[in-house]
Amino acid sequence: MTPRTQIVVGLTSLALSAGLALVRDRLPEHTGNVITDAPRRLADVLLPRDSDVISSVVPNGATVAGMLGKHLLPESELSALVQAVTSNFDVRKLRAGNIYKIDRLFDGRIRSFEYEIDPTRALRASRREGDIAFAAEVVELPRTTTQVVVEGRIDRDAPSISESLERAGERLDLALAMADIFSGEIDFNSGLQPGDSYRLVVEKSVRDDGLFVGYGPVKAAEFVNDGRTLAAMRFAFPDGKAGYFDTDGRSLKRFFLKTPLKFEPRITSRFSRSRMHPVLKYARAHNGVDYGAPTGAPVVSVSNGTVSFAGWTNGGGRTVRVRHTSGYESEYMHLSAIAAGITPGTRVGQGDLLGLVGQTGLASGPHLHYGLRRNGQYVNPIAEHQNLPPGEPVPAVLKAAFDAERNTLFAAMRQPARALSANDE
Ligand SMILES: [Zn+2]
Repeated sequence: MTPRTQIVVGLTSLALSAGLALVRDRLPEHTGNVITDAPRRLADVLLPRDSDVISSVVPNGATVAGMLGKHLLPESELSALVQAVTSNFDVRKLRAGNIYKIDRLFDGRIRSFEYEIDPTRALRASRREGDIAFAAEVVELPRTTTQVVVEGRIDRDAPSISESLERAGERLDLALAMADIFSGEIDFNSGLQPGDSYRLVVEKSVRDDGLFVGYGPVKAAEFVNDGRTLAAMRFAFPDGKAGYFDTDGRSLKRFFLKTPLKFEPRITSRFSRSRMHPVLKYARAHNGVDYGAPTGAPVVSVSNGTVSFAGWTNGGGRTVRVRHTSGYESEYMHLSAIAAGITPGTRVGQGDLLGLVGQTGLASGPHLHYGLRRNGQYVNPIAEHQNLPPGEPVPAVLKAAFDAERNTLFAAMRQPARALSANDE
């Protein structure tokens, strides 16, 4: 007896649909296709069917004709389908690993074809009974967006934030979001303690067949780290710009980022008025901090400012300097590359890419030398960053709106971790 319904889904394609390379790395090893019942088919699986749904993934280096040809479709059907797909879709955008499905009648004719462009859109080719040509169009896949509360705990079973999120059934995206929000306050690489916990409110989009699509921005978050409670909420201004604030309405965005590198980099050499230089082998001042980082890691501006220098310096190799307000100038050395458009006079925002980590100039290995000057004098960047006052408060005219939104969000956060409300998109 022939199976009436056969759904073949590749694990890798699920990961690619999630659109997050980091999650893909965490999936179990892909050892070929598995046969499984897709959720959307469960409801009608008992009804007599007149067709098979072939579901497969786009192979590496595939052409549309080659990919569809392996399913032994009648020649006339194959050419009609290839014609419809290639004339409605830029086939160069066909991505290896993405899912496609062919609904094939038992007499060999094709009823419909669907290719998932990304988690939210599909190319769908179908035709009415009796037609020869297919009509193809890009369709939005139905999804539901719900505000959810996520809670997690750091303990022996889940010593990292990504493991605790995985246990809560959530994704690494939220760890990256929390690292961004609390970057000045919590060291997510080595500062977490057993017993730390967090709660957050976020919108989550899930496709109607159960596939995760994505999160909206985190709306509110609370993190208990080593006994202290840090809280943050997102607040949008009338002009559409949004930022994160503490519950009193002070911006979490500091004058300086904690470091010019993403996440918490390892400090390999501290600021010093006199140290033995690792290449020159004699003592001299170390006018900055060295961060160990791989070649190619992005280096960003620690604050808003104007590029004052971009080019080669003796010893510093490829170097960028940015002038900020209050007499500050930051300095980034040994870069392997300077970002396009970073030239003297260019305005840069906090967090904008300046270049990539390298080991140009006098460097014994790839690292970033980060220096900071105040009124022309080198200062210890670590101490200087810590001494600066908290960020700007919400303007007085918006404080009432801020307080109302804070009360709503933090009340929602106190609800048990589950869906709070749903609205169809
Ligand atoms: Zn250095």
